Amino acid sequence: MIPAAFDYAAPTSVDEAVRVFTEAGEEAKVLAGGQSLLPVLRMRLAAPEKVIDLNRVAEMRGVRDVGDALEIGAMTTHYEIQRNPLVQDHAQLLARATDTIADPQVRHRGTFGGSLAHADPAGDLLAPALAMDAEMVIAGSQGQRTVPATEFFTDFFTTDLYEGELLVRVRVPKYTGWQAHYEKFNRVAQAWSMVAVAATVRTEGGSITAARVGLTNMDTVPRRAHGVESALLGAPATPESIRSAAAHAAEGTNPPTDTNGDVEYRRHLARVLTGRAVSAAVTA
Ligand SMILES: Cc1cc2nc3c(=O)[nH]c(=O)nc-3n(C[C@H](O)[C@H](O)[C@H](O)COP(=O)(O)OP(=O)(O)OC[C@H]3O[C@@H](n4cnc5c(N)ncnc54)[C@H](O)[C@@H]3O)c2cc1C
Repeated sequence: MIPAAFDYAAPTSVDEAVRVFTEAGEEAKVLAGGQSLLPVLRMRLAAPEKVIDLNRVAEMRGVRDVGDALEIGAMTTHYEIQRNPLVQDHAQLLARATDTIADPQVRHRGTFGGSLAHADPAGDLLAPALAMDAEMVIAGSQGQRTVPATEFFTDFFTTDLYEGELLVRVRVPKYTGWQAHYEKFNRVAQAWSMVAVAATVRTEGGSITAARVGLTNMDTVPRRAHGVESALLGAPATPESIRSAAAHAAEGTNPPTDTNGDVEYRRHLARVLTGRAVSAAVTA
């Protein structure tokens, strides 16, 4: 189907984009890679009066080293993230999760910020952002504010972004020397995650000295598997201790039931996939 008619604006700076977005109010939508927004417009599930295209806002693209963290522009594409040497060196978990998104066409258009702002619980970048303690830099008419990932995802397809606000960039602390793996379970290649597990660990002398584990699609928002992380801390990096820690993966989760599986099946998946993700991370 063809979307309903809309006005179009293509600002070239964050300030201009915020001004246009604020003036247009709730009748406007911003366009990033369009991989989620355009299907919604074409199916006429949304009919905004104005579409504000962010693709000419150069300051919202790219990856910068800011000392103890990387700052990743919201308009940086999945493809750029996969190939960026700073991400490979300091945020390996993000690169591994991005590798699993859809196909090359989607990864060339889809953006990091668009995925986070869209907040699909099955999206593959939310759990890594949470596990890595990422912070969202948001711009609005009152200036900029920073929101931790723990507070950014508030509900099913809902974030802490208010009307007229843009996600400008994401600050990801450096995980230099950490190993990582993203274990995704789907029915067919290139499909969305039924459940997935993001794991990044540090090992020393055969023991796990630090661990971060995030869960995809185990609730309306991404979840941290804190029980697993505590059980892994100081544990030997052996299959037995990893399996025993992974048994905590589903604690406190509230997964959906749908045509792909019910609550118990997803909890089982979370435990199995956590074991696989951590095992793969320690040998990565
Ligand atoms: C066939 C297909 C398969 C896919 N498979 C997967 C998959 O396996 N895993 C996965 O994680 N994703 C998958 N995706 C989604 C893909 O990752 C998209 O890139 C993502 O959902 C949205 O990013 P986008 O840049 O295209 O955003 P858009 O579609 O342009 O925007 C999405 C929403 O976010 C808002 N928005 C975008 N950017 C900003 C911003 N900077 N500030 C505020 N609001 C903003 C828009 O207004 C819109 O509401 C798939 C998409 C397709 C088409």
